[in-house]
Amino acid sequence: MRRIYLDNASATPVGAVAQKAVADAVKKFPGNPSGIHNEGRSARVALEGARAEIAVAISARPDEVVFTSGATEANNMAISGVMQSARMSGIARPHIIVSAIEHASVLEVTRMMERYGARVDYVSVDTRGVIDTKEIRKLISPETILVSIMYANNEIGAIEPIIDIAKEIRHARKVNKSAYPYFHTDAAQAGNYLDINVLRLGVDLMTLSSGKTYGPRGIGALFVKRGVQMSSLMHGGDHESGRRPGTEAVALACGFAIALTEAQKIREKEGKRVVILRDSLATKILKKVSGTSLNGHLENSLPNILNISFEGVESEALVLYLDAGGIAVSGKSACKSSDEKTSHVILAIGKAGDGTSGAIRFSLGRETKSEDIVCVAKELERIVPLLREARAQSDSV
Ligand code: PMP
Repeated sequence: MRRIYLDNASATPVGAVAQKAVADAVKKFPGNPSGIHNEGRSARVALEGARAEIAVAISARPDEVVFTSGATEANNMAISGVMQSARMSGIARPHIIVSAIEHASVLEVTRMMERYGARVDYVSVDTRGVIDTKEIRKLISPETILVSIMYANNEIGAIEPIIDIAKEIRHARKVNKSAYPYFHTDAAQAGNYLDINVLRLGVDLMTLSSGKTYGPRGIGALFVKRGVQMSSLMHGGDHESGRRPGTEAVALACGFAIALTEAQKIREKEGKRVVILRDSLATKILKKVSGTSLNGHLENSLPNILNISFEGVESEALVLYLDAGGIAVSGKSACKSSDEKTSHVILAIGKAGDGTSGAIRFSLGRETKSEDIVCVAKELERIVPLLREARAQSDSV
């Protein structure tokens, strides 16, 4: 039985070009790029080639691309690094602004920064999951060192107004006659479908993930605009211009670079293809399966993400039943707010509901075909009533 993989927002399969690039580089470059011998020098050339390729894909300069282990590390690096540097420059109580629907690798860091003395504002979103730029304008103060707003949300796909926020921030910098606040965006989910040109976006820092753009897992990058003051989180060698010590993952960097370039090259065409499939899946589910509702919005959202709540069904149960039927999706329950499994994103869009709806995220990708959509919708039509029946019976016992 062919499996249907609709969890591309968690991890994309490694594309053929990236697989080959990684395999070739593993064989060709055995040396440490810091070595001054032939093996070291050729590994350095490959690494810098990968860095330059990523720089081209985002319209940055190569020295503005820092390789990390993934998006989590890049987010930690941006927030903690900017905070530490601001503290060292004498700002006693730095202020940070983030959205309420950031990934845990942003929110858990800002919570930690609060313990270290930062003041943090968590900007709310509307029912589509979109923040209001005016809110940011109101919150910026002379102590604001960083605004971090994700480019696109990983659970509901909402796209945030990055260009507008960047304009607000440039305006605030002028008014305050300060280099702060910096603007960071977590673009981990954006690489396959959105324009990630840092000049057009106007960002100072941007997180990228390889494992979500058909590249190998275990590598990502942080764009750090020239002039941005950011301390290193780790200490050791002088790798990555002193920003991130440790022997560089040359082969992974080669795979990441080629995967990101390909993703950006085909993003518009692939986005148009996938959005038709996603909308068709949405229509089928919302029409044919009773007690379902859309979380977020289909417009102004990533073309591959669909998040739906199923009344009277636990999301974990539905994920497991679909898995047994050959379909991979992911879910977080949208039940009680005290339940730690409740998605903060679903809560933030005001969909906490009555505590009985499970939310499922379907995230489509390059391998998704129209027959998959028909199959998934049919399977849901069959499974959801069965799960509701089973739940009703166990409740009555
Ligand atoms: N940010 C976003 C928006 C994400 O979706 C993810 C992965 N779910 C991350 C950060 C963390 O990525 P990684 O697992 O590559 O560290």
